[in-house]
Amino acid sequence: MSGHENERRRPGQVKEVTSLTNPIIKDIRALAQKKYRDREHAFIAEGQKLVIDAFDAGWTIRTLLYAKAGRGNEAVERLAARTVASGGLVLIVSEKVLSTITKRDNPQMVVGVFEQKTVKLETVKPADGDVWVALDRVRDPGNLGTVLRTVDAVGAKGVILVGDCTDPFSFETVRATMGSIFAVPIVRTGEEAFLAWRKGFAGRVVGTHLKGSVDYRTVDYKKGPVLLLMGNEQQGLPDQLAESCDTLVRIPQAGRADSLNLAVATGVMLYEIRREALPLEERA
Ligand code: SAM
Repeated sequence: MSGHENERRRPGQVKEVTSLTNPIIKDIRALAQKKYRDREHAFIAEGQKLVIDAFDAGWTIRTLLYAKAGRGNEAVERLAARTVASGGLVLIVSEKVLSTITKRDNPQMVVGVFEQKTVKLETVKPADGDVWVALDRVRDPGNLGTVLRTVDAVGAKGVILVGDCTDPFSFETVRATMGSIFAVPIVRTGEEAFLAWRKGFAGRVVGTHLKGSVDYRTVDYKKGPVLLLMGNEQQGLPDQLAESCDTLVRIPQAGRADSLNLAVATGVMLYEIRREALPLEERA
């Protein structure tokens, strides 16, 4: 994308593009692949809601694309104006261009290309009452997106991705977050760095394990910050990570299933940990 960097970054620019072979469109299409997302440090978010969420949360937009049908639509024009004001590029495109970029037959009218943002592990210093979730080698983008959405919903502070995890900025993950990708801080780290950081963690580290001997409902989660550690979908937590936990809990099961889905287990745990912090009342 570097060849078009100056062109893209010129503030106040609005262009109309219909050709799939337009170099800017080709660069944006390449963001479907992780290696280009990594190289460009960018990703795609689809739909007005997500783009508004991103703006409101202070993420940097590089390019806003919208379908010609969006012309004259007040909400879409407002997003275009925000993009131009922040120095981004606005592209008015054909529906065909949008479906090629998003790989969908019925694409959303608006698509945003944003800069990736992650948090460094050493800056994570949880306070009393904070809850963080660490995911060991999560592989499924839908699971990761669902966990991010749930972390947002319960008011936990963020997610630490340990080891070789699926990309939080893939289409599938971003879609599954329903916008929470822009609200939940994400850390990416290796197992060794995580274990070193964990040694300085001031609260309780709770791991979930099918061999855990403690019922997850019997633990007092109120003392200090909590770090919830969840295992990989196939293998569960490796010994080194399991041994680093203060407590290994299990969620009781009946029936034939060997285990719960990772995202479901995370949701069950988070609602128990945050039970007292989440009264049922009108949100502001
Ligand atoms: N075959 C894997 C195993 O042996 O652990 C199953 C992994 S499970 C699909 C993914 C993760 O969800 C587990 O590592 C654990 O963190 C959590 N999990 C799922 N069901 C659980 C349960 N009943 N109790 C505690 N944790 C559970």
